[in-house]
Amino acid sequence: MMVDKNNLHSLTSSIQAVASPFRSYLNELYEKYQPLKEGAVADYIPELAIANPDWFGISVVTVDGQIFEVGDCSKLFTIQSISKAFIYGMAIEDHGRDYVWTKVSVEPTGEAFNSIVLDEKTNRPYNPMVNAGAIATADLIKGNGATERLKRTLDMFRRYTGREHDINVPVFLSEKATGNRNRAIAYLMLNFGMISDRIDETLDLYFQQCSIMVNGHDLAVMAATLANGGVNPITGERAIDERYVQDVISVMLTCGMYDASGEWAYRVGMPAKSGVGGGITAVVPGKLGIGVFSPPLDVKGNSIRGIKVCEDISRDFGLHLFNVAKPKHNLKDWIEGGDSVDAW
Ligand code: GLN
Repeated sequence: MMVDKNNLHSLTSSIQAVASPFRSYLNELYEKYQPLKEGAVADYIPELAIANPDWFGISVVTVDGQIFEVGDCSKLFTIQSISKAFIYGMAIEDHGRDYVWTKVSVEPTGEAFNSIVLDEKTNRPYNPMVNAGAIATADLIKGNGATERLKRTLDMFRRYTGREHDINVPVFLSEKATGNRNRAIAYLMLNFGMISDRIDETLDLYFQQCSIMVNGHDLAVMAATLANGGVNPITGERAIDERYVQDVISVMLTCGMYDASGEWAYRVGMPAKSGVGGGITAVVPGKLGIGVFSPPLDVKGNSIRGIKVCEDISRDFGLHLFNVAKPKHNLKDWIEGGDSVDAW
């Protein structure tokens, strides 16, 4: 049988994954949290309300390209607010840090993601992870017209995940049809001169970026790419300039989990971003990326199983950014026992 290099990559990853104690650990986490019945799937549009509360996948990708997965990691769902972190990085690449700073601040709000509030002194939205900041950030994406701006956005996500992405058109159309609150936020920012007057085009781009289809595996690769200084550890392609990774992940740490960001930083201590589709992407700088998918959300809009999984992994392997105590398990021993895919 002929096996090309790419097939060997996935073959070795899965063989190694089967043998690894980390894989057994993830299986146990899956069994522990699968029976959870708390939370409710997002239902502000019908397309999200049909999500099955039992869907659950955990994916971990290391910066040397090892993959460990359990559950529904290839099930597609809409990325929703997770897109905001990556679009922020793209806006900084398009305009530089200083200019983006004049349009979007980096202060946590403590308010819900869709709150209609701007900084009273500067008129800037508080941060790029709430809708106001995300719409202002989408406005900054360069391109000649709607098609080119969308194409550049999709290409950016392709670099992060290593595969092409589609938009879920029914979700996009529903977001657009029901998005009057986002429209109000955009007009308020236009009123203050914080965004350009191509409002419909920018809102379409924002609704489209939220409607991009990803799976749990993609979320882990995206996080691993940030953890790896902006280079996708599976494809070797650069997704973002390494100088800007810290901008993206610091805002993820302080603002990525909506108005539960403080509690998340305290308990989990990983830069992360959640979306109402049920995804969470979490970055352990220099080590790995985690992607969790499970649609039931808590009242703040974060995946309940997703939070629990990240809390456990953080605690058991000492992955909280500020951890200085000896962890229960040594990550190196658990995941780096086998060959890395780099060996191929
Ligand atoms: N598309 C959603 C909105 O703008 C994004 C929601 C989310 O994931 N928080 O309301």
